[in-house]
Amino acid sequence: MERCPVCRARFRDEAICHRCGADLSPLLAIEAEAAALEREAVALLAAGQWIEVRRVAERVLALHHSLLATAAWDFARRELVAEEARRFERLLQ
Ligand SMILES: [Zn+2]
Repeated sequence: MERCPVCRARFRDEAICHRCGADLSPLLAIEAEAAALEREAVALLAAGQWIEVRRVAERVLALHHSLLATAAWDFARRELVAEEARRFERLLQ
């Protein structure tokens, strides 16, 4: 979070906005949860667990916009499609 969503004051890494007094702790908790899920998605990518990557990326995207989660979700989708294509090719041989 770069700015307070209520008054647009620059965020100072404090749970209470210094200008308007809004409680930002729920938003900070969401950001922390999303960041943890993004790390989990990256670990799952490294392990080649495509279905789990998509599940975790979808949880990230339900919390906030994330280029990393979008890319992980799409990469996992392409890998799943490629695995299915290889499986069909083996069956057709
Ligand atoms: Zn504010």
